[in-house]
Amino acid sequence: YFSGMTKVIWSSETTPISMLDDLSQSSYPLCMRIMHEHLKTNHHLRNVGRMQYGLFLKGIGVTMDDSIEFWKRELLKKEDMNDDKFNKQYLYHIKYNYGKMGRRVNYSPYGCNKLILDPVGPGEVHGCPYKHMDVDELTKKLSDFKISPADTGEITRLAREGHYILACTKYFESTHKQPPGRMFMHPNQYYVESRAIQN
Ligand code: SF4
Repeated sequence: YFSGMTKVIWSSETTPISMLDDLSQSSYPLCMRIMHEHLKTNHHLRNVGRMQYGLFLKGIGVTMDDSIEFWKRELLKKEDMNDDKFNKQYLYHIKYNYGKMGRRVNYSPYGCNKLILDPVGPGEVHGCPYKHMDVDELTKKLSDFKISPADTGEITRLAREGHYILACTKYFESTHKQPPGRMFMHPNQYYVESRAIQN
């Protein structure tokens, strides 16, 4: 039995943005944790990253108004940013993700296959880190995040061999002290399963 087959991706909880820093450490898969960290450190995230992370946040139960508040708070910390620029450059896209603009489609968060296959250029931090990060950088990141050397070795080996989803699963088992037996196909499924263990 793989719980991955149930494919629950929408969180049943509403998630306040004040919890995101903690949740990024306890319940985010590495792809989303890295984007959150990058945004908090640099107050910036390129276009595709904002779309990927923004839809993930929608999936974990961040409301549209909270999402606007979250992005605004972070992006406005950058010197060359102001309310007017935020409204012109970013607001539309956030509302668009929630189906309130443009074609008004209720977009779903992206799954692992898309994140793994999406091209990632220099200076961009979206996509799947097991596929897109070089091994040294990945090793450093895992050790910064206090993953044991043995688990780091196993995760990077799986990533190097192209088993990105298995690397992600191993990261879950390591950070949640869980036995093997899961498989993730979606970052939001990872999140939902993590919360189910922690609640
Ligand atoms: Fe994110 Fe999926 Fe890659 Fe895990 S396997 S880091 S959830 S894209």
